[in-house]
Amino acid sequence: MTALSLDASPRILQLPLSVINKIAAGEVIERPASVVKELLENSLDAGATRIDVDVEAGGTELIRVVDNGKGIQAADFELAFANHATSKLATADDLFSIQSMGFRGEALSSIGGIAHVTLQSRPPEEMSGAEIHCRGGDLSPVRDWNGSPGTRIEVRHLFFNTPVRRKFMKSASTEMGHIAEVATRIALAHPGLHLTLRHNGKLVYEIPGSAGLLERIGLFFGDEVRGQLYNIDQHQGPNHLFGFIADPACDRGTSKLQYLFLNGRWIRDRSLGHAIQEGFRGLLMTGRYAVAFLFLEIPPGTVDVNVHPTKCEVRFAESQKLYHLVLSTLRNRLAAQNLTARLKAPAPAPNGYFQPRAEADHPSLFSQPGFPSFIKRPMPEPPARPAEPALPPPPQNSPLAPPIPEIEPKAIQLHNAYLVLETAEGMLVIDQHALHERILFEHVKERFRQGTLEAQKLLIPEPVELSAEQAARTLEHQGALAALGLGVEGFGGSTILITSYPALLSRTPPADILKAILDHINSYERTPAREALLEECMSLMACHAAVRSGDPLGPEEIADLVRMRHLASDAHHCPHGRPTALLFTRHELDKQFKRI
Ligand code: ADP
Ligand code: MG
Repeated sequence: MTALSLDASPRILQLPLSVINKIAAGEVIERPASVVKELLENSLDAGATRIDVDVEAGGTELIRVVDNGKGIQAADFELAFANHATSKLATADDLFSIQSMGFRGEALSSIGGIAHVTLQSRPPEEMSGAEIHCRGGDLSPVRDWNGSPGTRIEVRHLFFNTPVRRKFMKSASTEMGHIAEVATRIALAHPGLHLTLRHNGKLVYEIPGSAGLLERIGLFFGDEVRGQLYNIDQHQGPNHLFGFIADPACDRGTSKLQYLFLNGRWIRDRSLGHAIQEGFRGLLMTGRYAVAFLFLEIPPGTVDVNVHPTKCEVRFAESQKLYHLVLSTLRNRLAAQNLTARLKAPAPAPNGYFQPRAEADHPSLFSQPGFPSFIKRPMPEPPARPAEPALPPPPQNSPLAPPIPEIEPKAIQLHNAYLVLETAEGMLVIDQHALHERILFEHVKERFRQGTLEAQKLLIPEPVELSAEQAARTLEHQGALAALGLGVEGFGGSTILITSYPALLSRTPPADILKAILDHINSYERTPAREALLEECMSLMACHAAVRSGDPLGPEEIADLVRMRHLASDAHHCPHGRPTALLFTRHELDKQFKRI
């Protein structure tokens, strides 16, 4: 009787080893790239300084990894292919201070169980080496092998005995893409390693051991990325964060270029990924992602890497601390950088005219439905220079911050939208709405922080009809809205009463404010955290209260706005991440006019 017979109640049977191995292999080896990852990690654990990877047909035909590491003794060959056999762990305590890439002793047994593998190895101190074959878990006798010191592993016919997995393999080029990504992660994390990757005999990458991190980034991601990096290096207790972040102008449509390494291992971590994006908050458009190469070194005892067979996810003992380390390091670094977008002019057109192209024309919030576009408002009172400014004004004559000129150069308004200004560096073009919005945003935030954000009480509360869901959502955020000066109360059914509204928005009908905020909340997939909601609402308030593009401004208003530029701690981007100003450097102008 077999375990699957239906005519009698099934008995419990111990699964044969070959089945156990296939199940385990399925967890570790998902696709050819997983084999490459495991073999590369073994080579690194063996102290290799040079690794050559050869791949054919995306790894479906052949994966060969040759290293110059410490090799495997012939006597250990069979154990190397045994499940849960490792040279990297001796006691259970070692699990909590893992220094090596591997430790589960699963990779070789998994790969050997689902492919044809040849292992050849020679420890450098031995006169000769040995080889063994493993086909679907069946081992050949060990034979002599005369090769150079190190280990050479060939994997052919991957998934030959697991047809379902084989079917799920994608095209050779897709699988090769995954393999290249694995190689990239390994090469970034191990400066000093000489790594070559070949596909069908053609060289894909050759990373010399002498190439430092910056050079490696340049090799993998090109000069565009390399040229826009800021280094970071921050210690906090026993934790160390270092690496590079790219200028916000180098943003991407996915988070794929956010590389995070923990103690030399590439990892995926939602919380730290979030910290990266938070570090760039206000500098990126919605849906855009920062580029970052971050390395985190923390005591091995404070992280559990044994969460998942592929070890790409880990559990931190102090994740909150690390979150703040990443966030504050990025924030401070970006704040220290002058981020006024520098206009990269294209080559002059054949007619000789300079045709500067604005950076990608981002969709404006104002053109989105749900944002009333009725306001043509007079300039609200400029925030008086606060007694306690958000940031202390830069010290006069500081080499870092140029002194604020007593008299601002005169600015000219163009198209009722832009202010043009001569500065020491060149010609500055300011987006009047974006700059004003930024200044108001910081003003509102500062007032909020001090608890002096003014609210206007409504003598007669204003009822607003909403959908039942919207009404519920509004009440869910009652506290946060009240903190902003927007008082709301339930009135039964789906009616909400507005009892007060932010004084800054005195010219916007209260119901419109509430609806704009609700539209915003609804655009989130999940309920936003209170802090994020507050910040978004403040940015919305600033947006509504600011002068608009198309508003003609008087000379005083123009002068005020230009002067207020220095009050903002980030005068370079509006709260939605659009630049507030573009600088045409004198040098660029001279170049375009062919003066130099
Ligand atoms: P783990 O890496 O978790 O120990 P593996 O199945 O990947 O498990 O490897 C089993 C053992 O084989 C390792 O512990 C190591 O001793 C040995 N080994 C594998 N690859 C190499 C290599 N390239 N050089 C030296 N030893 C190796
Ligand atoms: Mg391993």
